[in-house]
Amino acid sequence: MKKVYIETYGCQMNEYDSEIVKTILKQNDYEFVDEPEKAQVLFLNTCSVRENAHKKVKQRITVLKKLKNSNKELVMGVLGCMAQSLRDELLQDKVGVDIIAGPDSYKKLPALLERAIKTGEKDYELTLSEYETYSDIFPTRAGGVNAWIAVMRGCDNFCTFCVVPYTRGRERSREPQNVVEEVKRLVDEGFKQVTLLGQNVNSYKSGKYDFADLMEMVSKVDGLKRIRFTSPHPKDFPEKLIEVVANNPKACKHIHLPLQAANNRILELMNRTYTKEEFLKLAFRMRDKISDLVLTTDIIVGFPTETEQDFLDTLEIIKQVEFDSAFMFNYSERKQTTASRKYPDNVSEEEKTSRITRLVDLQRKISLKRNKEHLGRVFEVMIEGKGKKPGQMLGRNDGNKIVVFPANGSNIGELVDVRITEATTNTLIGELCFPD
Ligand code: SF4
Repeated sequence: MKKVYIETYGCQMNEYDSEIVKTILKQNDYEFVDEPEKAQVLFLNTCSVRENAHKKVKQRITVLKKLKNSNKELVMGVLGCMAQSLRDELLQDKVGVDIIAGPDSYKKLPALLERAIKTGEKDYELTLSEYETYSDIFPTRAGGVNAWIAVMRGCDNFCTFCVVPYTRGRERSREPQNVVEEVKRLVDEGFKQVTLLGQNVNSYKSGKYDFADLMEMVSKVDGLKRIRFTSPHPKDFPEKLIEVVANNPKACKHIHLPLQAANNRILELMNRTYTKEEFLKLAFRMRDKISDLVLTTDIIVGFPTETEQDFLDTLEIIKQVEFDSAFMFNYSERKQTTASRKYPDNVSEEEKTSRITRLVDLQRKISLKRNKEHLGRVFEVMIEGKGKKPGQMLGRNDGNKIVVFPANGSNIGELVDVRITEATTNTLIGELCFPD
């Protein structure tokens, strides 16, 4: 049995894909090890969303290449989005990479590896498929309370800053019955919660079934306690889906709603297909319909041509919506994208830093305020593990907020009632409630 070591970078979809890779290779007599020094095959499953992710992987390749000095037969492979976007660069002799495979080519990995091991020649598989969903592979998970399930892959939206449509191809969805079958297996394995995954998860479409139908079908699986999903696009939120999140008791009351920017000119340059007013209307409708909704978002600052005034529009919307938390990034130009071809990255690094600092400060204040609104209330918390401090347990409430509380012998995966007694920007602290 050849021994394989894999490192994963980037989003949850990549984590899921690494599980798929492991399952495919285990079926072909490979086994996985935890240290690169023990392996004959090294894989880096990579991300292209930000330049930082590229830098990290390139540095790691340089480090891992040194292992080849003591093991000439070692095969190094790059998988995922970087493989798809940087083929020629990665396959240069000096880099040390032997094979590369894009996100739709993982079933070809056994053959790729066999050729590379036999011949020592460099090779790649990068064809993007309109059909590959890996629906015939039910990956084995490491454990825990939550299992991620990719229900659709790819993206047709072509936001001008984003490389995903080029590295992961067009949208395609799994059949709902196939997803439900996987959820049943996961519940049998002991998982209590599933998170439905997709680059644009709520554009899921399989025959007559849309994403709201899929949520309802998954929720009927006996023994499943909670359903989450990520990442949706604001354009795919019909009333029907809001109703499911509002009324289905297994649907968690947390929606990640990526705003990106709130100036209409910038939104148009980004090709986000909504205006600031439409986004606000949607966010308020969600808050109105879904009690205790936790809303989170993504923001990019310093998109090409963004002025101080444009940025202030974003700050204003952040104040109005009061997101519970936000992922906030400086704009990072990605090769292949429309923005890189049409709009020079003309906002200075100083300006980007000034804007993101102000944005983070504001969001931290709002996050703290929203968390303090939980004080004195009781929430059902699913236990995920031990807290940082001795004697503490950690879990999440329905809204995906982290809650820590004193351990009482409850087990991971159990649902317990916790009364919130303290709140920080990122965490709720509480005490267990017992029935009278
Ligand atoms: S919706 Fe936009 S940001 Fe999200 S993956 Fe598709 S192109 Fe990228």
